Amino acid sequence: MDPSERPDLEAYLEPQDLLLYLSMVGPDGWCVNYDQLNRECTVYDDRPWFCRVQAETFSRMFEIEPAELNEFAIDCCREQISGVYGDLSLEMHRFDRAVGLDLAEATDLADSSKTGGKSVEDF
Ligand code: SF4
Repeated sequence: MDPSERPDLEAYLEPQDLLLYLSMVGPDGWCVNYDQLNRECTVYDDRPWFCRVQAETFSRMFEIEPAELNEFAIDCCREQISGVYGDLSLEMHRFDRAVGLDLAEATDLADSSKTGGKSVEDF
């Protein structure tokens, strides 16, 4: 959530939402509501609207049409997982399986220059 990695926050968050967002950023750049040990949101039922992966949220923030939401959200998640854990991580493999991407599709999405030609099955 590090704001330095998201310079366009003001483009899609109203001032009061931006303040809330910034108040959630911990000293390590992760959300203060994220339980890293159990990998879950500790305020999930009450999480802010901008945390909710819903058509209305993405339309409001990014002008994404509902029909494009799945692809857009999957790309966002894969980018985040790649940045934190890597393209070939167990986390990426689990995510791809959870969203129904098969290995060929996932490989197509991965940057082959980063993977050096390896696939998740090499690990
Ligand atoms: S979903 Fe929960 S853990 Fe994730 S950013 Fe929102 S409040 Fe933080």
